[in-house]
Amino acid sequence: MKIGVIGGGQLGRMLALAGIPLGMDFIFLDPAPDACSATLGGHIQAGYSDQTALRQLADGVDLLTFEFESVPAETVAFLEQFVPVYPSAAALRIARDRWFEKSLFRELDIPTPSFANVLSQHELEQAVDSIGLPAVLKTRTLGYDGKGQKVLRSPADLEGAFAELGSVPCLLEGFVPFSGEVSLVAVRARSGETRFYPLVHNTHVDGILHLSIASQAHPLQAQAEDYVSRVLKHLDYVGVLAFEFFEVAGGLKANEIAPRVHNSGHWTIEGALCSQFENHLRAIAGLPLGSTARRCESAMLNFIGSVPPVEQVAAIEDCHLHHYGKAFKAGRKVGHATLCSPDRATLEQRIAEVRALINYL
Ligand code: AMP
Repeated sequence: MKIGVIGGGQLGRMLALAGIPLGMDFIFLDPAPDACSATLGGHIQAGYSDQTALRQLADGVDLLTFEFESVPAETVAFLEQFVPVYPSAAALRIARDRWFEKSLFRELDIPTPSFANVLSQHELEQAVDSIGLPAVLKTRTLGYDGKGQKVLRSPADLEGAFAELGSVPCLLEGFVPFSGEVSLVAVRARSGETRFYPLVHNTHVDGILHLSIASQAHPLQAQAEDYVSRVLKHLDYVGVLAFEFFEVAGGLKANEIAPRVHNSGHWTIEGALCSQFENHLRAIAGLPLGSTARRCESAMLNFIGSVPPVEQVAAIEDCHLHHYGKAFKAGRKVGHATLCSPDRATLEQRIAEVRALINYL
């Protein structure tokens, strides 16, 4: 089966690494000449709105998916005329825009921070009057890894804030004094069958994910599954979706969804019976889903900016290196390590050993 992937970054690369053993071939569409997926399949080097290139991609594959949500929804809608695309353009349209996304959470009765649509500096001031401070101003689209957002703590922070984010449509959110951040990765088949990975605990540094831990069953697993199910059913979703939550007294508050495989699910490559990458491919290809059960005490640490020497990572017991083959650059995700340990105490010890190799903390 030939799979087309819009985007050729590390998520596309890990999809291919999971799909090649299933007998799948891959073609990536990515404007970057050095897209790191390209060594694992064909590469159409073109922009995401280049209709000739999109048509060439659609003609060469059995079905299509995407590996990042900044793809214009119009691109996916165009491609859907020629070949099945999973997840759908309708799901992408909602997930890529924070206003649509939070409005859906409200419609489905999923607790979320208070929020308001902000289209001007004047509307920002009005929104702060109703939501209060502290608050977080975020661009509605194209924000990632903490980019495109600003925390507003005092009235002085409002000055010029809308222009600072580029004078583009924004969302103002109440600041959530969370006790932790967790995410649930789920997979839904074309038949509607849905499976959930264990809820993982995430730690961010400057808005970028640094560490995910998949350990003992989390008491909020059932609540998270309920919220994620509502979204999946509403969107008639096919594929992997990640849902990020804030943990607060009384339960979970929805932060955001990603309509794709997700960084907080990378631990599943070695830590679960079937990885998020393989399960995404199984779902979109109409194959039976694989088990989402954990096989060990697992954690994932990102390498940001650079990857430590392979011999140092390989020297750590229970540790698996994933080097994305990307040029090193400050702030860029260039690799990760997965740990798969027999017990929690050993896992903590190994996390400390990997951390000792990381120079950005
Ligand atoms: P996001 O891109 O929306 O996931 O935001 C990146 C990170 O910023 C989150 O993982 C949180 O650590 C923090 N953050 C985002 N929104 C809020 C909020 N409303 N209240 C408190 N922290 C937030």
